[in-house]
Amino acid sequence: MEQDTIRILAFEVRDDEKDIFKKAAGDLAAEVTLLPDILNLDTVDQCAGYAGVTTLGMSRISPEVLDRLKELGVKYLSTRTIGYNHIDVNYAKKIGIHILNAEYAPESVADFTIMLMLLVLRKYKPAVYRQNVNDYSLNGLRGRTLKSMTVGVVGTGQIGQTVIRSLSGFGCRILAYNRTPRQELEEYAEFVSLEELYTRSDVITFHLPLTESTKYMVNRETLSHMKDGVILINTSRGELMDRKTLIHGIESLKIGALGLDVFEDERSIYHESRINDIIANRDMAYLRQFPNVAMTQHMAFYTESAIEEMVDCGIRGIVSMHRDGTWKKEL
Ligand code: NAD
Repeated sequence: MEQDTIRILAFEVRDDEKDIFKKAAGDLAAEVTLLPDILNLDTVDQCAGYAGVTTLGMSRISPEVLDRLKELGVKYLSTRTIGYNHIDVNYAKKIGIHILNAEYAPESVADFTIMLMLLVLRKYKPAVYRQNVNDYSLNGLRGRTLKSMTVGVVGTGQIGQTVIRSLSGFGCRILAYNRTPRQELEEYAEFVSLEELYTRSDVITFHLPLTESTKYMVNRETLSHMKDGVILINTSRGELMDRKTLIHGIESLKIGALGLDVFEDERSIYHESRINDIIANRDMAYLRQFPNVAMTQHMAFYTESAIEEMVDCGIRGIVSMHRDGTWKKEL
């Protein structure tokens, strides 16, 4: 395998990643150039002369971008994210570009997921508004405890199973759905079909990748099987839930509360400052006004430890593929 110094171009680099990139490049003897830009058809030509490219999740790696990367000699593309729905992985495989994704400790997203549950159950959003305007009344702020609820966890991969283990400390009943049930979790959760999870859960949290089969898994039809007043939590990808269904569910009171770290069509909104725009996304703005809807800007991953692991993984994966022809997170 090749032993020369590999040149890597890093896109979407935030200030808080720069020192970590420099350290990883030094440790791995790689030459890394850092750019704030996203990778798309307008920026792809900057990849000339680089064998490896790394991005975050706002870049759009379409077949056209992949074709151009191939022409420019790029062999490896790593995303410093767990999710990879922004990359046409099948097309990349077809033309021979290796795609790698990141892994990092699941606690960052799992903790955030449980925080969103508690936040909506304890009506934190309206409580904070009232505090800020000298209104200390309790009317309408009565909450519920997790212990009194049945929580359904859809998807028991790295994050889903961490949510289950953490939730077990709260004393709630936990239902779980995965394509293949996991024996090691059976002491914490009862594995049931997705249909049964939908009908029995008071709170449902989703931990699946966005694929053709998971897109809009929360839709008018599936929502109709859920309990009246169901609480939905999404820290995976916005497109798992049809936003029109979410609006209908909140307006009709079918949905009791929403905790959303991700939102359909969030690209080019989240992780940007849109402070000078009147409105960034009409449906997002409409949903945001409800006291029982808590939204955050795709930040469940955003902890000190996760950022270090994401950057390190992004560089290390490319270097490992270049030198040894293998990496544990090749897609
Ligand atoms: P994972 O790969 O460990 O687990 C995914 C689980 O989904 C697996 O158990 C898999 O069997 C299951 N699955 C896949 N396709 C399915 C389908 N069609 N039907 C049913 N089950 C299916 O992934 P993870 O580390 O747990 O991450 C889950 C998702 O969380 C990621 O794909 C990503 O989109 C999202 N995420 C969000 C953030 C954030 O900051 N909000 C950060 C990291 C990851």
